[in-house]
Amino acid sequence: MAHDGAQGGRPIVVVGGGLAGASFALGAARFGYRVMLVEARAGASEGGFDARSTALSWGARRIFESLGVWGPLGAGPCPIRRIEVTDQGHLGGVGFDHREQGLDALGYVVENHLLAKVLRGRIASCGAIEFLAPADVTTAKPIADGMELTLREKGKERRLAAALTVLADGGRSSIAASLGIARQRKPYGQHALVANISLEHSHRNTAHERFTSHGPLAVLPLPMADGVHRASLVWTLPGDAAEEYAALPEEILLPRLQGEFGPGMGRVTGIGRRVCFPLQLSQASEQVRPGLALLGNAAHTLHPVAGQGFNLALRDAMALAEALGEAIGQGRSPGDLAVLRDYLARQEVDQDRTVFFTDLLVRLFSGQSAARVAFRKLGLLALDLLPPLRQGFVSNVTRQQSPLRR
Ligand SMILES: Cc1cc2nc3c(=O)[nH]c(=O)nc-3n(C[C@H](O)[C@H](O)[C@H](O)COP(=O)(O)OP(=O)(O)OC[C@H]3O[C@@H](n4cnc5c(N)ncnc54)[C@H](O)[C@@H]3O)c2cc1C
Repeated sequence: MAHDGAQGGRPIVVVGGGLAGASFALGAARFGYRVMLVEARAGASEGGFDARSTALSWGARRIFESLGVWGPLGAGPCPIRRIEVTDQGHLGGVGFDHREQGLDALGYVVENHLLAKVLRGRIASCGAIEFLAPADVTTAKPIADGMELTLREKGKERRLAAALTVLADGGRSSIAASLGIARQRKPYGQHALVANISLEHSHRNTAHERFTSHGPLAVLPLPMADGVHRASLVWTLPGDAAEEYAALPEEILLPRLQGEFGPGMGRVTGIGRRVCFPLQLSQASEQVRPGLALLGNAAHTLHPVAGQGFNLALRDAMALAEALGEAIGQGRSPGDLAVLRDYLARQEVDQDRTVFFTDLLVRLFSGQSAARVAFRKLGLLALDLLPPLRQGFVSNVTRQQSPLRR
């Protein structure tokens, strides 16, 4: 009898072809599995893939290299060679330089639509992945050794049995909810206003993180396009202000942005389409069950302050793929709870650390209470003066370990 997940056996079904689901599908295929990837939206340019960019760590680059995704991105990822961290209303700040870390770059910024296009190109050329889009998984029911799923495609419904169902269907996973998997939520009362901006001068591959009275404001370098110096803006604001700012005419919005940001990155000359995202920390109460695993935003949705959400999802995805790869050699099914628990045990420390680090940054670096301001000043000073602290901070951002490198 064919092994589950292998040719002829029951497939691994991935619900959701966003960045996390698509990356996992490539990882599982690399470890010898047959994968069915089901995505509700038709094209890479739609919906989930908006004007956003993603800061990728050095470790994420290594994973994408191993999946054959990095090469086709070409000159798309913009290297971050320096990170400047400043606090509004206070002089000075902390700078991190790639040379000090002995790395080519501290990280890279890639536009989501490009990453999605390349991921989908790799999936299309991978014989082990069947990609269904637009198609929905509408129900999931536990059965012996797996899940029975209902799939809706082109107005028709069909049932199939999956050896393992991977829910990568986003932070509002309706399938997880229907299975009784609860979520813990911690709303931050902030929205991220996201847009591409143009700059008068080159960003010189510097990413800026500035802590303002409203919350953190990030400007990430992007490659030039049509002779324009570009950067990606993630501006954290109270919810009502974000909606209001998103609708303001450019001539009113730009001086406000410049005022918040100061002169650090030079003059901002234009701002493109703006999109707002409510920000929260949310985590699924369970990430694995027999025949089921949750990945990406479905497992944990983080504040974007430290650019860690997708980087963590990618490390999880590859750790899961690797654990499943080992299961083949042991003759175990990919849906075996022991296999899935083994995966989670490997990633638990990484997940806890990343969630804690991100949440700590949001709490410390939002607001202007005297205690927080004093702590920030001390924190920035300590980061500047103490090499081990600097190293710790940067390794949280660049996070080099990759299960595929072990
Ligand atoms: C403003 C902002 C900036 C960010 N910046 C960074 C950054 O710099 N670095 C970083 O690492 N992370 C960053 N993140 C986090 C990152 O965007 C997320 O971690 C990542 O997008 C998660 O992707 P996902 O695939 O888990 O979920 P999603 O992108 O939500 O994808 C879920 C997919 O599932 C599909 N789907 C849903 N239900 C079904 C169903 N029933 N059947 C079939 N398909 C279904 C949806 O159509 C969707 O395509 C940022 C987030 C925000 C909000």
